[in-house]
Amino acid sequence: MLRYLARARPEAEAALRRALMLDKADPIAGARSKFLIPTASEITQKPEIGSDDSIYLCGNSLGLQPRRTRELLDEELGVWARSGVYGHFRHDHGRSWVSIDETVTGQMASIVGAAQSEVAVMGTLTANLHLAMASFFKPTAERHKVIIERRAFPSDHYAVESQIRMHGGDPENSMVLLAPRDGAHTLATADIVRAMEEHADSTALVLLPGVQYYTGQALQIETITREAKRLGLTIGWDMAHAAGNLDLKLHDWDVDFAVWCSYKYLNSGPGGIAGLFVHDKQSYRDRLTGWWGHEKETRFVMDNKFRAVHGAAGYQVSNPSVLDVVALRGSLDVFADYSMTALREKSVALTAFLEDCLRESFPKEPGEPAPFTIITPTDPSQRGAQLSLLFRPGLMETVYEALAARAVVVDDRKPDVIRVAPTPLYNTFTDVWEFVETLREIVAEIEARE
Ligand SMILES: *Cc1c(COP(=O)(O)O)cnc(C)c1O
Repeated sequence: MLRYLARARPEAEAALRRALMLDKADPIAGARSKFLIPTASEITQKPEIGSDDSIYLCGNSLGLQPRRTRELLDEELGVWARSGVYGHFRHDHGRSWVSIDETVTGQMASIVGAAQSEVAVMGTLTANLHLAMASFFKPTAERHKVIIERRAFPSDHYAVESQIRMHGGDPENSMVLLAPRDGAHTLATADIVRAMEEHADSTALVLLPGVQYYTGQALQIETITREAKRLGLTIGWDMAHAAGNLDLKLHDWDVDFAVWCSYKYLNSGPGGIAGLFVHDKQSYRDRLTGWWGHEKETRFVMDNKFRAVHGAAGYQVSNPSVLDVVALRGSLDVFADYSMTALREKSVALTAFLEDCLRESFPKEPGEPAPFTIITPTDPSQRGAQLSLLFRPGLMETVYEALAARAVVVDDRKPDVIRVAPTPLYNTFTDVWEFVETLREIVAEIEARE
């Protein structure tokens, strides 16, 4: 760890000492060794940069690979090689493929605060959103609107538009687009509630993100859901950036349905298998069906009389990809060692440390234009792991490229935002400190050239 000290500017030494102390006291520090952290030379493809760990702050986009994942995949390839089709019912590792989803739904449910029966591990996020909307979006002439943010993630926006069109509607008339107030970057809960009140009689569905992907704002899921219920509205949540990030209580909060992917904070690998939550109270709904939603005992009787599995599992359409399921398992086995409450506690501290270091290293000089502003709320209850830095026009891409060249991995969202997401399972406080020091150096070099 002393290699950091050698490089520290005198002004940043105190922060570094704090980082080292926080890492030493971190009860979750052991989880990092269960992941493959790309080295600096691997991630930059520059051998000369050396084999120290890269600074990977991009778990909000693609989580890192748990060490166990390759082993699990190898085991499945072995069963397939040796047993062929019998692997569905006979499995060297006790994971018969016919019930492979049951090896992950319990842990997945505990991560999102649900009963096991309320969670299905299946498909992909956008496909699950369409399946959920098939059940939960039933527009009529009077009630046809979907309340959604103006800057929703494109896939969610397209999904809603196409659902409206499939029902013969016009997105122009049927989408209520929520926007921040003038000059604000994030949505005010009061404005969301006001929109729900104003459109209560004409709304068929409210669809919101648990954590907004661009700003990093965590919406007040419990309050907004309660208000939706008071108004008699159906509410679904996209938890892409919230699952494995926030301490969710989907059941207790009375959420109707939720969908999420597992390759972000849940580290299941690119395009990994996704999640669907359907509240137990709602699981009798009409749905788009396939054979995998049919009750297990009689699924192979093939009598073409559909009887749904109880709960969210009844919304499964196809048999799941076993390789995808065990890849997710590799990460869930790490999650199983820690409660979401403990992970969230570290996450809050990591992100607060990130914000502190940024404020110390980029003090506001009167009259000087700041290189960036943090558009994520400062209140820890209104954000997850991620901070979004909105750069002065023209600066972001240069900064992003320079960070990447120094083995600091963050992500850019056009036009001017860099998202930085320290994740509690594998990031350290010293990672955060290194990021801020590197960013400071880069910005100083750019400003010296200007
Ligand atoms: C990441 C993300 C998606 C991705 O959708 P896929 O179906 O997994 O490709 C969708 N919506 C939101 C809000 C996301 O953050």
